[in-house]
Amino acid sequence: MERGKVIIFSAPSGSGKSTLINYLMTQFDCLEFSISATSRSPRGEEKNGVEYYFLTPEEFRAKISEHAFLEWEEVYENKYYGTLRSEVERINTKGNIVVFDVDVAGGCNIKKMFGNNAMSVFIMPPSVATLKERLVKRGTDAMEVIEDRVNKASYEMTFSDRFDRIVVNDDLEWTKALIRKIVKEFIDNE
Ligand code: ADP
Ligand code: 5GP
Repeated sequence: MERGKVIIFSAPSGSGKSTLINYLMTQFDCLEFSISATSRSPRGEEKNGVEYYFLTPEEFRAKISEHAFLEWEEVYENKYYGTLRSEVERINTKGNIVVFDVDVAGGCNIKKMFGNNAMSVFIMPPSVATLKERLVKRGTDAMEVIEDRVNKASYEMTFSDRFDRIVVNDDLEWTKALIRKIVKEFIDNE
């Protein structure tokens, strides 16, 4: 597979990763989001082929057997997520920079695969309590789903020092400006 530039974002759920990635997409035409496959159900307004390719567990397992994934993880119990090789190839072929939204294990694996062609960014919440508040306020998940996510957050945060950059998402406008600057430097750097 061709090795163009890639940017990896990882964070505990509710840290603001999707908000920041969506913002970046409006700022740089050369970025393109890698749409992952997942066996979880769509949430809120999510559409197949936009946020994710939504697969049944059987379809997901079939893709694992076909070696269709660059990487995949069981991020939560019985909830599978994976990056399709075809997705990365599609974006690379266009000459665009691939943007990944993946869990911490996936983030570390992709960084290893792409080396200096990758910039990995860990989005850190100000605290686990704030993270929970944001998930409750977002209003897209049942309380038990929120508990699963919050329970995993402290463990996920122990991965932060394996990333190239750590960005604490406290004040949103400030974080947007910082992340824009970091990404611009990476894009401009030959
Ligand atoms: P993730 O993709 O990491 O799960 P989201 O981007 O969905 O997180 O953000 C979770 C919730 O927190 C959303 O409702 C979002 O609007 C809100 N949010 C994101 N960043 C901030 C911030 N800096 N301050 C307050 N709320 C935020
Ligand atoms: P959510 O259900 O909130 O959309 O995502 C849950 C977690 O799965 C997040 O940490 C997200 O980054 C991660 N995730 C999404 N797609 C992938 C993927 O393709 N691979 C891996 N390893 N994690 C993913």
